[in-house]
Amino acid sequence: MPDLRDILRVRPDTRLAEIDPRGTPGLPGGKTVGKDPKRWSKTEVAAISQELAGYQERMFASAKEGATDKRVLLLLQAMDCGGKDGTVRNVTQGMSPAGMTAVSFGPPSEEERRHDFLWRVRRALPAPGYVGIFNRSQYEDVLIVRVHDLVGEDVWSQRYDAINEFEAEQAAGGLTMVKVMLHISKGEQKQRLLDRLDDPAKNWKYNPGDLTERARWDDYQQAYQDALTRCSTAAAPWHVVPADRKWYRNWAVATLLRETFADLDPRYPAPDFDVDAERAKLLAAG
Ligand code: AMP
Ligand code: MG
Repeated sequence: MPDLRDILRVRPDTRLAEIDPRGTPGLPGGKTVGKDPKRWSKTEVAAISQELAGYQERMFASAKEGATDKRVLLLLQAMDCGGKDGTVRNVTQGMSPAGMTAVSFGPPSEEERRHDFLWRVRRALPAPGYVGIFNRSQYEDVLIVRVHDLVGEDVWSQRYDAINEFEAEQAAGGLTMVKVMLHISKGEQKQRLLDRLDDPAKNWKYNPGDLTERARWDDYQQAYQDALTRCSTAAAPWHVVPADRKWYRNWAVATLLRETFADLDPRYPAPDFDVDAERAKLLAAG
């Protein structure tokens, strides 16, 4: 089975428009998935999530002893209704919230606007031993900001290099980034927006502004195309996960994380005390 990271990685010649949002690249053979892919995925993702929990605990434990500066960041970008929240819920289901920091990025506050665009991002990075989740990220500053001319082209066009430099610096400092774009089709977005209007329990997720963004679909796709190809580096590659099928999306993101952790191979630290002596003391003390 080839590494899913290789299959989904963005390369200089990747064309977002040529990636089918309903596709299921890298899936284990049809036989394994069976007739009920949703059920297969649910079982599989639950199992992978348990593995991730083990990795998370070992990374957390080793950082506690100061033995590692390793930390992992799952960075998610998508068009509205792309499934960022659902993905996070699914892939982190087995993890300890105490070893995790999840951050969502909305329009910058007044204070954030007074600083460089990476200021708030630096502050939100996971500490050593932690798993971080970014729901949106520094990439909004070359996506919505570019599409709506919130700053001039002279400013946003410099940001790709700034992001690459920032990410290389973080990677050198022990941060492993798993950057994922959840790729949905325009038709699927329409369906999901309709669901948010039809179901009173989902109304809160709907924002009338979503239609303004939807009207700029093609501009967003172009902005994504550039961000993905210009910022898919060896230190921090991008992955495009076809996301019209939620069961595939969940499996793919969980698998990307599992492969990443397997490479990092975090280990429990050796105790800095004499285990046998402590046991003897405890037993003797009654
Ligand atoms: P939601 O994720 O639905 O809560 O929406 C958050 C909104 O904040 C999205 O429309 C983002 O595009 C927007 N946003 C995030 N970062 C920025 C930014 N740096 N500048 C402007 N808007 C942003
Ligand atoms: Mg929204």
